[in-house]
Amino acid sequence: MPHTVLIIEDNEQNRYLESFLLEQAGLSVVTARDGPEGVQWARRLRPDLILLDIQLPGMDGFAVARAVRESPGLQHVPMIAVTAYAMVGDRERILQAGFTGYLEKPINPETFAIEVRRYLPSAAPGGAT
Ligand code: MN
Repeated sequence: MPHTVLIIEDNEQNRYLESFLLEQAGLSVVTARDGPEGVQWARRLRPDLILLDIQLPGMDGFAVARAVRESPGLQHVPMIAVTAYAMVGDRERILQAGFTGYLEKPINPETFAIEVRRYLPSAAPGGAT
């Protein structure tokens, strides 16, 4: 079974591109368009990794991160913020919010999947970590 990645992103083009690149890299992808939907999927799926847009309408990425971390079984899931370059100054805030790391937007299609994979557990896909 491939690793499952949950992408929470409100921009359709970004969502499509990120899914496409990760699926091409052999990962299984589930997408959500907003925070509440993303949190629901996270709790139901227990994905191996979550990619999280910070600028989401309504419930923003920080609120989503908090809800994920408070969910049973999701305290340690790798959670990567995908943020616009202008927000890189918020690195401290991102890491303090429980994120494992962050990737800058616009994403680089040539390296995106490789960078995401770095955050995946190296144990057998789907295995306990
Ligand atoms: Mn957004």
